Amino acid sequence: MMRRGDTIAAIATARGRAALAIVRLSGPDACRIAAACFQGADLQTVPSHTAHFGYVVGPEGTPIDQVVATVFRAPRSYTGEDIVELTCHGGDLAPQLILETLLHHGARLAEPGEFTLRAFLNGKLDLAQAEAVADLIHAGSTRAHRVSLAHLQGRYSEQLQRLRSDLLELCAYVELELDFSEEDVEFADRAQLEALLDRTERLLDELLRSYRLGELLRDGVRVVIGGRPNAGKSTLLNALLGQDRAIVSPLPGTTRDQIEAEAEIEGLRFRFVDTAGLRTTADQIEAEGVRRAQQAISNADVLVYVFDLTVGLDPEETAYLKQLQAEQPTLPVIVVGNKRDLLEEEPALPALDGPALTLSARQARADATQLQPLIQALVTAVTADLASMEDSAVVMNQRHRQHLARAREAVQAARAALNQGVGGDLLALELRRALHELGAITGEITTEDVLDQIFSRFCIGK
Ligand code: GDP
Ligand code: ZN
Repeated sequence: MMRRGDTIAAIATARGRAALAIVRLSGPDACRIAAACFQGADLQTVPSHTAHFGYVVGPEGTPIDQVVATVFRAPRSYTGEDIVELTCHGGDLAPQLILETLLHHGARLAEPGEFTLRAFLNGKLDLAQAEAVADLIHAGSTRAHRVSLAHLQGRYSEQLQRLRSDLLELCAYVELELDFSEEDVEFADRAQLEALLDRTERLLDELLRSYRLGELLRDGVRVVIGGRPNAGKSTLLNALLGQDRAIVSPLPGTTRDQIEAEAEIEGLRFRFVDTAGLRTTADQIEAEGVRRAQQAISNADVLVYVFDLTVGLDPEETAYLKQLQAEQPTLPVIVVGNKRDLLEEEPALPALDGPALTLSARQARADATQLQPLIQALVTAVTADLASMEDSAVVMNQRHRQHLARAREAVQAARAALNQGVGGDLLALELRRALHELGAITGEITTEDVLDQIFSRFCIGK
C-alpha cells in the first residue's frame, strides 16, 4: 500500500445522483495528467490555488463533461503533493468516465485512505489527526463532530505532545543528572521527580477516563425503555423523539414488539429501544418479546423503567429491578413514574438505587420542558461528569486507548522503580516505554502494518 511517487486518482464524493462530484488527482504527474484531458487553460503552467473552467475530453477526444479544475501545487496541498481536483456534474456517469480517462493517461486508482496516508507521510498531519479525518466523516452527532474537529485541528495531538515533552524532560533528568542507586540523592530532586510523575499519571488517567465518553460519542447511547404494558413507554418514546424531529430516524429491522429509534439530544446520539413488557409469561409469543427485552437490557447503557403512577410499581416489578441492579450493577436505572397529570399531588417514589422522577409523557408532546429532568438524568447517568470535558481531551479511538493504558502502566512502573530506589537506568527505561506508546498514537513511531490497518478503513478518495 505504501507505494509512493506515482500519481493516484479517485472519485472523492459519494456515488449516486448529486449536483456535483469531485475527482481527485495527487502526485508528481497530477498536472500533466489533468492537462492531457482538459480543454481550457494549460493546467501545467497555471499558478497554484487557482480554478479553471473547461471540458474534460475522453481518450478519443470526445467531450465528457464541463468541469472546474482546481490546482494545488506541492507542498501547499492536502497531501503535500501536486493535486488537481476536477469538479464535475454528479451522477454515476460523469465522475466515472473522468476517472477512467485519468487512469488512461497514467494515473493509478487510489486505495482507501491513500490521499490521507500521503498527507501523513509528508508530514501534513499526524496519525491522530489522520484518524480524526475518518471520525469526522463518520460522526453521528454534533458532539462527536466537534470532538473529531478538535482532534483534526491538532488540539488533541498538542496535549499528547505536552505529555511527551514532560516525559522527555523526566528522562533527561534521570539519565543525565541522577543516579538513584547512590545514597546521597537530593531530596528536592526526588520530590520534583515525583511531582512530574504524578502530573503525567494524572493526565493519562484523565485521558483514559474520557474514553467512556468517547465510546458513547462514537457508538451512541443505548437506552432501553422498559415497563409494564400501558405504562406509557411508547408515548414517552414519541415525546423524546419529538425533541428533534429532523434527526430522528426509524431504524430498519424493528419488530412488532420492539421499536428502535434514534434522536440527538444534548449533542449525543441516543438510540432508544422501546421493549414489550418484561414480565415472565407462559404465552409463547410474549415470551419471545420478553427474551428480546432482556437481551436489549444486557446491551444497554441505561434503562429507563416506566410505570403508571395511578397503578404504582407492583412487588414483582420492584423485585425485578432489585435483581437487575444486583446482576448488572453498572447499568444505570432511571425510574419514571408516568401520568403525573392524573394525580393531584406529587406522589412518593419507590425507594430504589438511582434516580426516580415523575412526568406526564402525554403532556410532554406539547410541553418539552416536562422532559428536561429525564434528559438531565439520562445524560448524567451515562456520562457522569465527563460531559463537560474539553473536546480536545476526549479519547474516541480504541487504538489510542490501548497505547495510553500501556503508557500509564509504564509511568506506574517508573514510580515503583523510584520508590524502590532502583537504578536510574531502569527508571529511564520505563519512561522511554511510555514515550514510545505516546509516539505510536501520533505516529512518530509506527509500522507499515499499523498504517495499513488504519487507512484501509477509510473511504476511497479520502
Ligand atoms: P406502553 O404500552 O407502555 O407503550 O403505553 P402507551 O404509550 O401505549 O400508553 C398507554 C396508554 O396510556 C395510552 O392510552 C396513552 O395515551 C396513555 N398515556 C401515556 N402517557 C400518559 C400520560 O402521561 N398521561 C395520561 N393521562 N395518559 C398517558
Ligand atoms: Zn408501547
